Amino acid sequence: MEFAASEYEIKKVLNYFERLCAIPHGSGNEEQAANMLCEFAKEHSLEYYKDEYNNVLIKKDGSIGREGEPSLMLQGHIDMVCEKNKDTVHDFSRDPLSLYVSDGLLRAKGTTLGGDDGIAVAYMMAFLEDETLSHPPLECLFTSGEETGMLGAMNFDYSKVSSRRIINMDSEEEGKVTMSCAGAADLLLEKSFERIGSKGRALKISVTGLAGGHSGTEINENRSNAIRIMGRLLARLYSDTPFNLCAVNGGNKRNAIPRECEAQIYVLDSDKAIRIVQEESEKIRGEISKADKGMKIRCQKGDTDFPALTYKDSSAVINVMTLSPNGVISMSPDSLGLVRCSSNLGRISTSENKIVAEVMARSSSDSEMDALIIVFKRLSKLLDMSATLSDRHPGWDYDPKSQLADKYVTIYDRLYGSEGKRAERCAIHAGLECGIIIGALGGETDAISIGPNIYNIHTPDEALDLASVKRTYDLLVAMLGEL
Ligand SMILES: [Zn+2]
Repeated sequence: MEFAASEYEIKKVLNYFERLCAIPHGSGNEEQAANMLCEFAKEHSLEYYKDEYNNVLIKKDGSIGREGEPSLMLQGHIDMVCEKNKDTVHDFSRDPLSLYVSDGLLRAKGTTLGGDDGIAVAYMMAFLEDETLSHPPLECLFTSGEETGMLGAMNFDYSKVSSRRIINMDSEEEGKVTMSCAGAADLLLEKSFERIGSKGRALKISVTGLAGGHSGTEINENRSNAIRIMGRLLARLYSDTPFNLCAVNGGNKRNAIPRECEAQIYVLDSDKAIRIVQEESEKIRGEISKADKGMKIRCQKGDTDFPALTYKDSSAVINVMTLSPNGVISMSPDSLGLVRCSSNLGRISTSENKIVAEVMARSSSDSEMDALIIVFKRLSKLLDMSATLSDRHPGWDYDPKSQLADKYVTIYDRLYGSEGKRAERCAIHAGLECGIIIGALGGETDAISIGPNIYNIHTPDEALDLASVKRTYDLLVAMLGEL
C-alpha cells in the first residue's frame, strides 16, 4: 500500500496493520494471527507466551537505564467483527482484507476493517520492534474473542504478568480517556407450568415499532422496553378482567432493548378487553419519548385453540414482566453523568411448558451488582421461578486519582492543545476488557482505555482516521517515555 507523506511516519504501524489484515482474524478464528505474533516475537528475540485461547503475551525489557522500573501492560484484542456488504464476495475464514486509503481514511473494500482492534495490535508490534524508544518494561497482551464475550480476557492466566498499570487501546475516539466501564451478568428467570384447556375468546396483542438500542450505552435515553409495555397492558387488563395467558414472546437478545413483544390470551369479554387495551395504549402513547413515537399497539381477535396457562400462572408471568428491575438502577456519584448500574429485561419466550425471561444486568460497581443479583433472586423466589446467573464479569469503577489518566490528559493537551484539541475524561456503561483484567490483577491496578478515531465500527463502512493514528502514536510514544 502507498502512503501519503504525512502517513509515512507511521508507516511501520500501518505495515504491521497490513500484515494482520492479510491473515483471517475474525472472532473465534484467531489462531493464525496468534501464530504470526509468536513468529514476530521469535524474530525479535522477545519472550512470549500463547495459550489455548490464542491469547498472546509478549514481553520486552525496559529500554537502557529503565530495566528496573515497574512494568506497563499494553493491551488490545486480536479479533475483529466480520461484516460485509451484500454484494461483496469475501470469505472471512480465508481471504485477506482488501485495504485502501481515501481522504486520509483507511478502509477495507466491502468489509469491516478491523481497526477495532487491529490498530492496537499494530501499535504494540511497532513498540516491541523499536529499539530507539524510551520505555519501562513492557508486557503486551493480545487477547482473543473480545467481540463475542471477551473469552480471551476471561480465560487468560494473569499470573504470567506483573504489571499493575494498563493502557488498553480499544477505544475509538481520540482525546477521550476512558476510566471506567461496566461489568455484566446474565440472569435467566424460568417458570414451568402445565397448560389447561382454553376458554373464552382468543386475543392477540402486539407492541411494535419501538426504537430499541444498546442495553448499556442507551439505557439512560428513556427508550421504552416492549416487554415492559406489554407487561403494563396485561397487568391493567388483568386487574379489570382476569384472563388466561397462552403465550408471550418479545425481544431478541439480552443486550438489546426490546423493540417488539406479542402476547396471546383468552378472555371472557373480548370487546371489553380490546377497549381496555386501547385506553391504556393511549395513556402510554402520551408518556413515551420522541425516539419511540413509531410505537404501534394492536389488539385483535384471534382463533387459536392452543391450551392456556391457569390464572395463577398467567398472573405470575405478568409479575415478572412488570416487577423485574429494569432500566437505570443508579447513577455514578462522580461528575461524569454516567449510569452506574442498570438492568435490561431483554427477552421473554414461551414454550409448551415453560416461560423464560432473560435479563442483562450491568454495573461498574461490583457491590451494587451483588445487591442487584440478590434482588433478582428474591424476586424469583416470590414468583416461584428459578433464577440462574451466568457470564458474570467484574466492572471497572471510576478512580478520580488515576495517574495514567492524568498523564494522558497532560501529554495530550501539551501536544495538541495548540490545535484547539483538549483531552476529556470519560466512562462507558458497557463492557471493556479492562474490567476483567483489573478484576483479575487486583484493586490497586491503574488503567485507561484510549485509541485513535475509528468511525462506523462493526460495519463495512468502518474507517480508520490516519492523522489520528499518527497523533495517538506520538502520544503513546511520549507516555512510554514519561511513565
Ligand atoms: Zn474492540
